[in-house]
Amino acid sequence: MTIHNNVDASEIAKFEKLASRWWDRNSEFKPLHDINPLRLGLIDSKVNLVGKKVLDVGCGGGILSEGMAYRGALVTGIDMGAAPLAVARLHLLESKLTISYAKATAEEFAQQYPCSFDVVTCLEMLEHVPDPAAVINSCFALLQPGGHLFLSTINRNPKAWLLAVVGAEYVLRMLPRGTHDYSKFIRPAELAQWTRQAGFSMGELTGMTYNPLTRTYKLGSDVDVNYIMHLQKPLLD
Ligand code: SAH
Repeated sequence: MTIHNNVDASEIAKFEKLASRWWDRNSEFKPLHDINPLRLGLIDSKVNLVGKKVLDVGCGGGILSEGMAYRGALVTGIDMGAAPLAVARLHLLESKLTISYAKATAEEFAQQYPCSFDVVTCLEMLEHVPDPAAVINSCFALLQPGGHLFLSTINRNPKAWLLAVVGAEYVLRMLPRGTHDYSKFIRPAELAQWTRQAGFSMGELTGMTYNPLTRTYKLGSDVDVNYIMHLQKPLLD
């Protein structure tokens, strides 16, 4: 069965349009390139990626997928954008890494491959999806007992609006206008509630902050704007 109802076609279209520049470090995707070493380091420090079966949900052009494969993970990347996937596949010729890419939703993959992955990552995607809770339920189903989930998104409060929408899209022009819809940003408490409802136990939050003067990002306890949540599927008892 094909489940495409939890996909916002206008959101996919935004990424299709920009896809050719995905690996250009000075393009709209600069922020993803800049945060990649930080988020990779966090994930690797929690799970040790070597030999792990990893699913990257909403992988786009493969920036995170390649980083995880480079660190020794066996990576599958899924996305609903044909153009980002084409770019991701093409980039493997350059990187010489092996990654399996497929056009699919987390919901479809969960039906086909339940309890199949040690690690699932879904970074910077939930704020582009109509029903994020359904994606989290699917991530739970995809994981083996004891498996790890990493989610990242943008908090919803005036400061996040100011920095992630006004600052990034209008003042610094790091992202095209309309990239982010404030109303779809997600508070950590909302994300935590969805993960608990899915069956995960307590998550661990890490904040990601951007300093516009030094143009650098860092990880820390400030979750006001960007943040990553790490969860684990309970072991069978
Ligand atoms: N996770 C990547 C890319 C983030 S951009 C990274 O952090 O580097 C968001 C991606 O999510 C885009 O490639 C878009 O096509 C994809 N996407 C949006 N909605 C989706 C859905 N319902 N299912 C799968 N992919 C989706």
